[in-house]
Amino acid sequence: MILDLTPEQRSFKESIERFAREAIAPQAARIDESGEFPIDLIRASVAHGLLGVTIPAAWGGAGRDYVSYALAIEAVGRASATVAAALVVTNSLVAELIAYAGSAPQKGRWLRALANGQALGAFALSEANAGTDAANQQTMAVRSGKGFAIKGRKVWVANAEAAQVAIVFACTRPGLRAQGVTAFLVPMDTPGITRRARDESLGVRGLGCMDLALDITVADDQVLGAVDQGFRLAMWALDGGRVAIAAQALGIGEAALDAAISHAKTREQFGEPIASYQAIQWMLADSATELAAARLLTWKAADAKDRQERSTFEAAMAKLAASEAAHRAADRAMQVLASAGYRRGSLVERLFRDVRATEIYQGTSEAQRMIIAESVLSDSRI
Ligand SMILES: Cc1cc2nc3c(=O)[nH]c(=O)nc-3n(C[C@H](O)[C@H](O)[C@H](O)COP(=O)(O)OP(=O)(O)OC[C@H]3O[C@@H](n4cnc5c(N)ncnc54)[C@H](O)[C@@H]3O)c2cc1C
Repeated sequence: MILDLTPEQRSFKESIERFAREAIAPQAARIDESGEFPIDLIRASVAHGLLGVTIPAAWGGAGRDYVSYALAIEAVGRASATVAAALVVTNSLVAELIAYAGSAPQKGRWLRALANGQALGAFALSEANAGTDAANQQTMAVRSGKGFAIKGRKVWVANAEAAQVAIVFACTRPGLRAQGVTAFLVPMDTPGITRRARDESLGVRGLGCMDLALDITVADDQVLGAVDQGFRLAMWALDGGRVAIAAQALGIGEAALDAAISHAKTREQFGEPIASYQAIQWMLADSATELAAARLLTWKAADAKDRQERSTFEAAMAKLAASEAAHRAADRAMQVLASAGYRRGSLVERLFRDVRATEIYQGTSEAQRMIIAESVLSDSRI
């Protein structure tokens, strides 16, 4: 077992770290304050290979492995949680799912555009009464001529403000729950889509989250994969997305640890830098250790994603461990900075708000524990 990066992975990581430090980090506070979707940074990230990261070169992507992708998302997440989340949605939840399940014409129409930045993707699964219970889809897709009439309402659709295409999930066989859900590829300019701004978000502000009211007609060739197979596809996409959210969380956690270290070295109380006190040292040590442990789980899950058809268990463990480690790191950073952190507009205050979403979206921590427990109880763990 080799627990080190290849020269290609290392050089990609360094190039994204440079881009994140120089171009993204200086914009992060403005994105948070304004709540504006960072479309310029998403466009700029194309030149750095941050769209279509794992999509095969034949479809215009960079064809990189999942560990490289996780390294890139961690680097971006360290600079701006919002930019990282927007990249995760379009890469993992949209482009990868089209590459996996799309027909050749669907790939031709969308994959190249998603990889070269002409299109951005959104993933519309959640509804008012279908959050953790995502199989409880109330959006209905009913046969109509050579296609489907889709009616319903989706909530919290990230990237929706700027996206050109959404993968929309809808019930095609009422009563069958997961067995009766179909995924549709829907251009966002389809007549009958009304985008509604969401309430103000606590963190990852600027992610372009909107609710979608749908009253649309789609053709048969907009079905992604097969009819009634959509729930399985959503779960497949989330296997990748959760690895990427684990990486995003690590980035936020590392940024919090950096802020805590730097403050501890410079803030003096009782005539000494507070870093000289063991109470402070232990907080830094615990954050560094927990983030390092979560990173190993994240790399393991990323590697599993490349090697296995499904990596649900590994992805759940990585997301659970990384999001909770990052949450604790942000919490400790707040304690180390004390009043200097507990101030609107401070870096740690933003990280403290941003990190919370990583325990909620793409499946809550409880949902990850359910997956892990099911696997542990059926004794199928590795
Ligand atoms: C910033 C942000 C961006 C998002 N982006 C998207 C997106 O792009 N696309 C999309 O489709 N969705 C998106 N979502 C929605 C997100 O996926 C859901 O919020 C999440 O799945 C949880 O659903 P819920 O909020 O309805 O909570 P609920 O499902 O109502 O859960 C409430 C609480 O009950 C717990 N719970 C529920 N069921 C169980 C159970 N059986 N056992 C134990 N505990 C349980 C949950 O863990 C949670 O603690 C986004 C959300 C946020 C906050």
